[in-house]
Amino acid sequence: MDLFEYQARDIFEKHGVPVLGGVVATTPEEARAGAEQLLGGQPGVVVVKAQVKVGGRGKAGGVKLARSADDAAEKAAEILGMDIKGHTVHRVMIAAGAKIATEFYFSLLLDRAERRYLAMCSVEGGMDIEQLAVERPDALAKVAVDPRTGIDQAKADEIVAAAGFDAEIAPKVAAVLQTLWTVYRSEDATLVEVNPLVLTEDGEIVALDGKVTLDANADFRHPEHAELEDAGETDPLEARAKEKDLNYVKLDGEVGIIGNGAGLVMSTLDVVAYAGEAHGGVKPANFLDIGGGASAEIMAAGLDIILTDPQVKAVFVNVFGGITACDAVANGIVAALEILGDEASKPLVVRLDGNNVLEGRRILAEAGHPLVTIADTMDGGADKAAELAHAAA
Ligand code: GDP
Ligand code: MN
Repeated sequence: MDLFEYQARDIFEKHGVPVLGGVVATTPEEARAGAEQLLGGQPGVVVVKAQVKVGGRGKAGGVKLARSADDAAEKAAEILGMDIKGHTVHRVMIAAGAKIATEFYFSLLLDRAERRYLAMCSVEGGMDIEQLAVERPDALAKVAVDPRTGIDQAKADEIVAAAGFDAEIAPKVAAVLQTLWTVYRSEDATLVEVNPLVLTEDGEIVALDGKVTLDANADFRHPEHAELEDAGETDPLEARAKEKDLNYVKLDGEVGIIGNGAGLVMSTLDVVAYAGEAHGGVKPANFLDIGGGASAEIMAAGLDIILTDPQVKAVFVNVFGGITACDAVANGIVAALEILGDEASKPLVVRLDGNNVLEGRRILAEAGHPLVTIADTMDGGADKAAELAHAAA
């Protein structure tokens, strides 16, 4: 799960990373109140920052300085509702203004291929780190981090030396990197990125922006992370699927997909996308893996989610019978259609293969449900489902 900047700021603060004050606002009035709170009646500058889970907000006009509480309300009114790379801004963070002397870059991420972490650091931070990485890769230090030792004093010193910090500030930066490691480790993050990490005119090192990705596999260790989930941003169908423990990902297409096993489902997406080219360009509408035990309840729950997607015009059920044999799957489909009743209103193409396939097909044929078409092959089923989706679109 990716966090909003304000959530990353809060987590940074909890672990002792130096940050500035920040208050979330969803309206210009709340922004004014937040700015008043931060300014405490003194003249000064605050920064109004769009809270969207996408980079490059600064360049898109989503980060604006404000010179008073009234100004903050005005800037918030400009930023709220703005579209930044397809993300609508629903809230802003009012942040205490920093007097920036220099901007640096730091990130720590999971390096899956090398089975360790990777720290990246540069004395040239700010907005265009991707460009820097391409044009002058030498300016971006990359240092491997052993997960067993993490960023201790020695590793932090190594990173700041590789990045080329001045001797004067290197120890301060090294200390902050260790607190960022604490965030990474104790929150089970897969990414912690700070851009910019700044040196202020007062000589302090401060994390001015934060991007944190939490590892969902470690959710069981962090009941408190559930609060960070943004119900408004997750797709409603995905949220419902999650409640039912289904591995469902919404895609932009017309052919609903149900299969068992992630590999089979992924190849089904490819085959349907390919077949769709001959049928008006229809595409797969989702990823849904119902796993090994394709019971009637799971099948019904899966079909229910897919059929409520208004974009779906036809469904392709592609199951390979293994431990759960095809007859059990076929019975599951028949029972699921009974459970759903009138809600099952879109054509279903079913391809069964594997253990007990003949009995499975016989059960489906005997049930003779008017919406069900039986397909013999995966390619044939994909083609039929694409054709039906195109015809109904
Ligand atoms: P991003 O563009 O989405 O990465 O948003 P950032 O939070 O990194 O902000 C973009 C830029 O705005 C930073 O690189 C800074 O130059 C500037 N900025 C952010 N906060 C402050 C601040 O408190 N004071 C000043 N003067 N500039 C800021
Ligand atoms: Mn940034």
